[in-house]
Amino acid sequence: MAMFREHIAIGAIVAAVGVAVCYFYALVTDPLLLVILFLVTTVASFLPDLDSDSGLPFHLIFGTFTVFCTGVALYYTLDAGYGDWRVLLGVPLAAMLFTWIVLGGIFKHFTRHRGMMHSIPAMLIAGLATLIIARDLGQGEIVSTVLAAAVGAGYLSHLVLDELYSGINLDGSIFHPTRALGTALKFFSSSKGANLFTYAILTVLAYTAFG
Ligand SMILES: [Zn+2]
Repeated sequence: MAMFREHIAIGAIVAAVGVAVCYFYALVTDPLLLVILFLVTTVASFLPDLDSDSGLPFHLIFGTFTVFCTGVALYYTLDAGYGDWRVLLGVPLAAMLFTWIVLGGIFKHFTRHRGMMHSIPAMLIAGLATLIIARDLGQGEIVSTVLAAAVGAGYLSHLVLDELYSGINLDGSIFHPTRALGTALKFFSSSKGANLFTYAILTVLAYTAFG
C-alpha cells in the first residue's frame, strides 16, 4: 500500500503526460476538456482505495464520488427539462444522500481493503464505465475513448504503485498482507462472491459499451 500522497503525485504525473500526449497528437484540443482529462486521471489514481473503510482517504474518495454522482444527477434532471425547482433540487439531493449513505454503507460492508477493487478487471470496469458515461454525456468517440483510457491509466498507476509498496498502508503504517488478498495487479481474489460480482459487472459494461 503506497501512501496517499504518492498516489496523487504519481497520478498527477500520469495525468500531465496524458494531457501532453493528447494535446500533441490533437486528440483533445479544448482547454476545458484537457483540464477535465487531468482531473479525471488524477481522481482515478486513488479510486482503488475506495475500499479502505476509514479515515481521510475514504471520505475524500467517496466525497469526490458523491459530488460526481450529484453532478450527473443534476445534469440528467436539467437535461430532462423539469421546470419544477423541487425536482431540480430534490433529485440531485436524493442522489447525494443515496450515494453517501446507501452506496457508502454497502461499500464499507462488502469491500475488503486490497480486495477486488485492487485488480485488473476493476480497472477495466472503471474505464468502461467512463466510456459509457462520456458517450452518454454527448462526447464523441475519440474524446470518450481518451477519457476512458485516462481513467484506466490513472487506475493502473495506483495498482502498480501498490504493488511496488505492498508493505505500507495508506497512512504510512505497515500493511500485513494475507495470502488471501493477493497482489494489487491481480485478476482474481480468493473470494468467489467478489470475483463473480466483479466479472458480472465487467460483462454487463462490456456488453453495454460494445454489444
Ligand atoms: Zn491501494
